[in-house]
Amino acid sequence: MPLVEDLVAKHARYVLTPWAEQGGLRPPVIVRAFGSYLEDAAGKRYLDLSSGLVAVNLGHGDARVVAAIAAQAQRLCFSPPGWFNDARVELAEALVGLAPWQEGGRVFFTAGGAEANEDAIKIARTVTGRSKILSAYRSFHGSTFGSGTLSGENRRWPIEPGIGDVVHFFAPFPYRSPFHTTDDAEETRRALAHLEDIVAYEDAERIAAILIEPVVGSNGVVVYPAGYLAGVRALCDRHGILLIADEVMTGFGRTGAAFATERYGVVPDIIVFAKGVTSAYVPCGGAIVRESLAGYFDEHVLALGHTYSGHPLAMAAGVAALSAYRQDGLFARAAALEAPLRARLEGLRERHVSVGDVRGVGAFFALEFVSDRATRTPLVPWQGKSLGAMTTLFAGLRARGVYAMGRYNVLHVAPPLTVSDDELDEALHALDGAIDDLEAA
Ligand code: PLP
Repeated sequence: MPLVEDLVAKHARYVLTPWAEQGGLRPPVIVRAFGSYLEDAAGKRYLDLSSGLVAVNLGHGDARVVAAIAAQAQRLCFSPPGWFNDARVELAEALVGLAPWQEGGRVFFTAGGAEANEDAIKIARTVTGRSKILSAYRSFHGSTFGSGTLSGENRRWPIEPGIGDVVHFFAPFPYRSPFHTTDDAEETRRALAHLEDIVAYEDAERIAAILIEPVVGSNGVVVYPAGYLAGVRALCDRHGILLIADEVMTGFGRTGAAFATERYGVVPDIIVFAKGVTSAYVPCGGAIVRESLAGYFDEHVLALGHTYSGHPLAMAAGVAALSAYRQDGLFARAAALEAPLRARLEGLRERHVSVGDVRGVGAFFALEFVSDRATRTPLVPWQGKSLGAMTTLFAGLRARGVYAMGRYNVLHVAPPLTVSDDELDEALHALDGAIDDLEAA
């Protein structure tokens, strides 16, 4: 193994790192991982409190998935996407089995979430013959031109003007209501009225689909108040608009069910997935399309395709990951983690004035940091230029051997669904200390 310093220097010399100014970057060099831990080139372990990018739902190095990938690699590493493949049909059948439709469905595979959202809206536009897509502010759907345009935050700005016919709307956010309410039922009512207005102003007959994260992911784990998603579904039905659920982050147990839409009792027309489908062991994403839409392509060309669509290694990893989720009851385990996680994080909020809000569902939580609890002033400006004071929090976590994902004044707590009670104790103890550092700074 080369010296750590050499690796760092060469990484900086040869690799462009996402979402960062490149000068002065000095993150750990990760060389292996097991269970809930990442390990760096110096042998230091980091408890992975965000499952990578909320993706490694099985924890790292699950032997069943690793063996399945290895066995597939021995037998077949690539198969032409236009020909059929045994592993592909196995994963597609398993995914359709998780979807809510009596009528069944079919899967189009991609290499990740951004591609999958773009393909989902292409399918919606083709089948409906309409072109507009509505998506929410404060959403993230990927960083490519199409998915970036769909995203409702500053990761979209560098790619503007992006693709055409995408319109954004405000969705509920109880802690920072765009509708000036303090009551969940009122928030739902006003948010639905706002969406109905947008549909009217954009002309319902020109709108192909509404695309939504059923729980907002990287923009702060915003859980919609009761009735909102059902209201969006009803609005779509009234106007012949398709509902696309972006379950890239929420899928495969994260919220305590196969999909968050299932947890909230809402039936979308297309489910977009990635990340947890293979527990992120091999890149994979896709769109599960209900049969009444998929059948359209029996007599029309499906004008989509990627070299890595249904890649055998991803398919094998997906089949093994879904089987491991089932075998270990991990969707139920995520549901069981919800109450203790909420209680523990609320405990942190009680101890620390900088924690303004604790929110989440299943094993998917966020802490939002404020400089003033009464006014809810964000500790660092949302979509501002830097992480400011939050840098101390992340440095404190890293020093204490914890990795966690965050954005501006929000920290994500989304451990592997396999995390043990002792590991959670360890991580939350470290978080407690890192918040002490933040408040002392
Ligand atoms: N959609 C959501 C909800 C996501 O959270 C992400 C990534 O974090 C994406 C789409 C994009 O997925 P990918 O990074 O695989 O392109």
